[in-house]
Amino acid sequence: MNNNVQKNSTNKKLSLLVPMYNESSVIPVFFETVLKVLETVSYEIEIVCVNDGSTDNTLELLKGYAEKDKRIKLVSFSRNFGKEPAMTAALDFATGDAIVPIDADLQDPPELIHEMLEEWEQGFDVVFARRSSRDADSIVKRSTAAWFYSLFNKMSDTYIPSNVGDYRLMDRKVVEVIKKLPEKDRFMKGLFCWPGFKSTTVEFERPERAEGETKFNMWKLWNFAISGIASFSTMPIRLGIYLGLIISAASFVYGLFIITKTLFMGVDVPGYASIMVAVLFLGGIQLFFLGCWVST
Ligand code: UDP
Ligand code: MG
Repeated sequence: MNNNVQKNSTNKKLSLLVPMYNESSVIPVFFETVLKVLETVSYEIEIVCVNDGSTDNTLELLKGYAEKDKRIKLVSFSRNFGKEPAMTAALDFATGDAIVPIDADLQDPPELIHEMLEEWEQGFDVVFARRSSRDADSIVKRSTAAWFYSLFNKMSDTYIPSNVGDYRLMDRKVVEVIKKLPEKDRFMKGLFCWPGFKSTTVEFERPERAEGETKFNMWKLWNFAISGIASFSTMPIRLGIYLGLIISAASFVYGLFIITKTLFMGVDVPGYASIMVAVLFLGGIQLFFLGCWVST
């Protein structure tokens, strides 16, 4: 299997992109494992590490590795910006023909890179790494993730395959398209899928974190989910349009009812009818035009 990759490889380059936030406990085992795996790959290699404003000694460790091994490149953020900006920066720095974002904690098994390269050599531009099991994740994380991606795929025109994280191989031409996307709030799982191209999938069992703790709590994941839907679906805005129309129409009918009632049966509470109708009607109209305006 690996021989095949070596036979086909010319002077192409493989870039690994590694976002790192407070990963000092995992860095030694990460490089040990990855560099061993890459020994059997005959492409030129670069490992672009992004220190995402770590507060432990991640940066010092990375500097040490980058000094010893010229294949290791280092980008360092002034503060913690998050995994998505870290991957965006790494994409800008990467110069490879094939590009693979990979987590530092070895939950994305580096051994899979061989299989991905093989598929790439066969002519696939994107090779997704699909988790055949998510046993390492808690039941809450598993079910909320499944629920989110099914909702996302219903609401958005961009399809995200299920059980696929950021770990994947992308050809340079796919990366060039992604780099042109001007989004500031960058939901990378969506942006990675948006360009399309010929894709295939390889499967893996997601192991536990090699060292350290997850950097994503439920609050971060919730905000991540909102940013994904807001960036890739116009449905929330269209919902505003429909809701606005329904509220304005209902308040119009209600207005007619109150006016008729007042004309025939007199005033119950002075001012109530006119204020209610005006507030409801204007609220509906505002929602409607806000939806129309934002969706253009
Ligand atoms: N990460 C990052 N910035 C952050 C949070 C995470 O660069 O603000 C990196 C982290 O160091 C790791 C990867 O993103 O390499 C995935 O993070 P983690 O393993 O904590 O996520 P999980 O696997 O639990 O979803
Ligand atoms: Mg992890």
